[in-house]
Amino acid sequence: MKKVEIQSVGGPEVLRLVDAELEAPGPGMVRVANRAIGLNYIDTYHRSGLYPLPLPTGIGLEGAGVVEAIGDGVDLAVGDRVAYCAAGFGAYSEAINLPAERLVAIPEGIDFDTAAAVLLKGATVEYLIQRTYALTAGEQTLFPAAAGGVGLIFGQWAAALGAELIGTVSSEAKRELALANGYTHCFLSDEPDLVAKVREITGGKMLPVVYDGVGAATFTDSLDCLAPRGLMVSFGNASGSPPPFDLQQLAARGSLYITRPSLMAYVASKEEMRASAAAVFDRVLDGRIKVTIAQRYPLAEVQRAHAELEARRTVGSSLLLP
Ligand code: NDP
Repeated sequence: MKKVEIQSVGGPEVLRLVDAELEAPGPGMVRVANRAIGLNYIDTYHRSGLYPLPLPTGIGLEGAGVVEAIGDGVDLAVGDRVAYCAAGFGAYSEAINLPAERLVAIPEGIDFDTAAAVLLKGATVEYLIQRTYALTAGEQTLFPAAAGGVGLIFGQWAAALGAELIGTVSSEAKRELALANGYTHCFLSDEPDLVAKVREITGGKMLPVVYDGVGAATFTDSLDCLAPRGLMVSFGNASGSPPPFDLQQLAARGSLYITRPSLMAYVASKEEMRASAAAVFDRVLDGRIKVTIAQRYPLAEVQRAHAELEARRTVGSSLLLP
């Protein structure tokens, strides 16, 4: 079978499609034949070395497909439709062996492409909105990179709760997409005075919470948009890691809180993974979340997929197709 491997860290050129053997799944393990693979920004951190992995390594955290073989003690059957995220590295492949307890069943009515486009990003939105800070109706919040994969799902989920959303994006086309996906306000990231605009929108109160996945480029503005005792959720680094940070800055802005969460810690148990997936899939099935799959790449074009994601040329979710 074919899989993508990296032998060293670097730019998209280190992603190599190679032939590999996959052993029979051991006890508690399942071989999944991937039908669709989710592309996530975190994959670029693994490839670049920002988040180091032992090398050589497979890459990719999310996929959807069919159970092809099972090990002992597994209560799944060959042919079952399953999806996974944060289950192990190596999703960029035709097939992968994974622990059965990390797999979730794909409900009827959801196809493989949709499952692979929504599971990791949707589970991220689930924990950000429900468990990191429980956003409620009438609350206002800021989400930079509003037209991205996580951003479009966040917009729909939070708007359905009755929250009022302010987004930022890098182009007019992305702005239109964000406004069509739950954001009430959306500004171009190179426009000046975001903080003043947020002050005006909130009538001077500023925000109880900001969800910032962009990192270095937006970190200070995001802090400045918070109300006293507000929560900064810094959950990503698309523009680079935020700079070293003096805790006094939290006091100076009125006793702010800050958290740097990661999905893995919120779906660590089988029960959490399944509950989070169910919350995501339920919203897809009842139409509260529509999944925008704007880019599809053959697995062999994985280098181009990474280059376009990092060049900010994508919107919504991207898939690799084995
Ligand atoms: P996106 O589809 O949102 O792509 C990243 C977006 O970031 C770009 O489209 C771009 O939007 C924006 N961006 C701003 N500055 C830059 C820059 N200098 N270089 C590249 N992009 C930039 O990716 P995902 O939906 O996969 O992920 C969004 C964020 O969420 C990432 O930071 C990711 O790491 C994080 N994440 C964190 C998780 C966690 O548990 N902590 C889990 C899942 C995702 P624009 O052009 O509009 O500025």
